[in-house]
Amino acid sequence: MNNSPQGRVVVLASGNAGKLRELAGILAPLGMLLQSQADFDVPEVEENGLSFVENAIIKARAASRASGHPAIADDSGLEVDFLGGAPGIHSARYSGAGDAANNSKLLAALDGLQPEQRSARFQCALVYMRHPLDPMPLVCQASWEGRILEAPRGANGFGYDPLFHVPEHNCSSAELAPELKNRISHRARASALLLEALRQR
Ligand code: IMP
Repeated sequence: MNNSPQGRVVVLASGNAGKLRELAGILAPLGMLLQSQADFDVPEVEENGLSFVENAIIKARAASRASGHPAIADDSGLEVDFLGGAPGIHSARYSGAGDAANNSKLLAALDGLQPEQRSARFQCALVYMRHPLDPMPLVCQASWEGRILEAPRGANGFGYDPLFHVPEHNCSSAELAPELKNRISHRARASALLLEALRQR
């Protein structure tokens, strides 16, 4: 088996075109050709892991099994200290009714709290699996520290971006230019770690 990641098709276990573009650029120096799982017949899998890492592995394994190629998957979410780490791995389905409802639910849960009680971070786990039974997936994890605002700000990004205050730029992550967010976010940091890990392997 060729274990070298050089010059190989690698499947991204996501149908998100933005993520594909971003990661494809990051991995290009390694000669990897990143292809969306939409190009293969990858079945829906239940993300029933208890951690971001487990869920990323579940997704990568399914994409690798269905495609016959190595696969990369990420799993991410928002951890709010006052809520004991919620919504965490349930971030996408926190309210059960999409991004706007997720944000309203979060604001209500933190109602009346002072800024110092609103600490939070985005978490990202990114994994690379050489094959579906890979016993040693590359696992990279990164976070992005901030706090939850009292009202949404900004129109860029997605998910909880309008509520996530980025201290180093004193704005919400939905107010950051997309190129800047893509350089400093949890996903960007995990991607940089993955690039390094793949280089070393
Ligand atoms: P996924 O890992 O891409 O499925 O993301 C899980 C959920 O976490 C998303 O649906 C968002 O609610 C939230 N999330 C993850 N990363 C971000 C981000 O960069 N900005 C805003 N919300 C995010």
